[in-house]
Amino acid sequence: MNLSGKKILVVGLGKTGVETVRFLLKKGALVDASDITPFEKLPSIVTELKGMGVNIEAGEHRLETFLRADMIVLSPGAPFGLNSVKEAINKGVEVISEIELASRFIKKPMIGVTGSNGKTTTSTLIARILEGTGKRIFLGANIGTPLIQIADRDDCYDFLVLELSSFQLQGTHTFKPFIGMILNISPNHLDHHENIGEYIESKMRLFSNQTYSEWAIYNADDSLIKENLLRIRSKKIPFGETPLERGVYFDGVNVRFRDESYDLTKMKLMGKHNIENAMASIACTRILECDPKLIQKTIVNFEPLPHRIEFIRELRGVRFYNDSKSTSPGATLRALESFSSPIILIAGGKDKGGGYEVLRETLRNRVKLLVLFGESKFRIEKELGKEVKTVLASSVDEATEKAFTDSEKGDTVLFSPACSSFDMFTSYEERGRRFKEIVQNF
Ligand code: ADP
Repeated sequence: MNLSGKKILVVGLGKTGVETVRFLLKKGALVDASDITPFEKLPSIVTELKGMGVNIEAGEHRLETFLRADMIVLSPGAPFGLNSVKEAINKGVEVISEIELASRFIKKPMIGVTGSNGKTTTSTLIARILEGTGKRIFLGANIGTPLIQIADRDDCYDFLVLELSSFQLQGTHTFKPFIGMILNISPNHLDHHENIGEYIESKMRLFSNQTYSEWAIYNADDSLIKENLLRIRSKKIPFGETPLERGVYFDGVNVRFRDESYDLTKMKLMGKHNIENAMASIACTRILECDPKLIQKTIVNFEPLPHRIEFIRELRGVRFYNDSKSTSPGATLRALESFSSPIILIAGGKDKGGGYEVLRETLRNRVKLLVLFGESKFRIEKELGKEVKTVLASSVDEATEKAFTDSEKGDTVLFSPACSSFDMFTSYEERGRRFKEIVQNF
């Protein structure tokens, strides 16, 4: 693809946007960049880009900037719903995501992992298994290194394992992973997508360009995925709880695929959802002909990633878990289902618009106390407060102290916010670290 002399606008100047600008400059494009953040608050690298001839528009998105582009590349998080984007599309300007741009330069086989929850865990598991066979793996996209950073330098890898968000998939047109995988769909990011339909449509785009030469792995127990299966034209491998022809399933003790059996009883990852992540990883790595014994061993020995139902400590018989990465009620539901002990749940943060109804029943059955903090605490209290004893706190510190004070031997204190962190923290990592610190200092 020749980009030389093309007028290209990059929207969003976070890590991915900056890498996209660099890539486009290397390819000889004439680059504009637009970010709603005021100039002083943008990363200092932006000044350097300005010196390299990039026309930077900060603090606003002006329509004329969008209309004069030959092509617009959206960073993850820069919404398609922007008026300027819509008008540019109407005028015939091609609008794509950074993943689409990068994939046009990539030669090596891609494995795309999407879903509302479990992407990082599953893509990391797959990467570890493949690495175990001596393959050279790039693991990135929505986590770690943006794909564009290696777009024309992928010769040094055998496979690219890509964690993909709905935003990244929304702007794809020709992107075609060799293996595409969708773990689940639950209402999420409804503060950024126009509606659930748009969110589902974005996720299913993963399979849009696949043919019978490629593979699709999907969760057969997920009703929203099941409703959309007709859109998949590649070879399908379902995974779930019931035996399905050509599928991977969990028989309550072992995971089964074809005539193989995988014993995951000693797996360090907790909960049914992680069995699902394991099943998806097994399907993927078996397509790539990895040895079943190596697969089982890698999955069993895999340590939970930080902030994902991460055990912190036991104090006076109370066990503390950090699940700060839970930024949606769907993830919190799965965390609650992972414990058999009475739970004190600490939740709250920035509301993402989807509601908390999915938590109702499990909350009633498993949670003895709900401690709420952050911007969303009143909404959650209104929706769920009748189900369980609920207290409000003004900070994570206060919430954690309240949880510990009310706990008894045998309880689990679970920090699984069900909301994003941006009301009080810069990231879920910072939020999780704060919780860990408080617990370590008790
Ligand atoms: P993602 O990258 O999609 O956000 P992670 O692997 O980082 O996924 O996990 C995010 C949160 O979702 C954690 O709280 C984790 O416990 C939970 N989770 C992980 N896998 C699943 C799954 N398959 N279904 C539901 N929740 C999951």
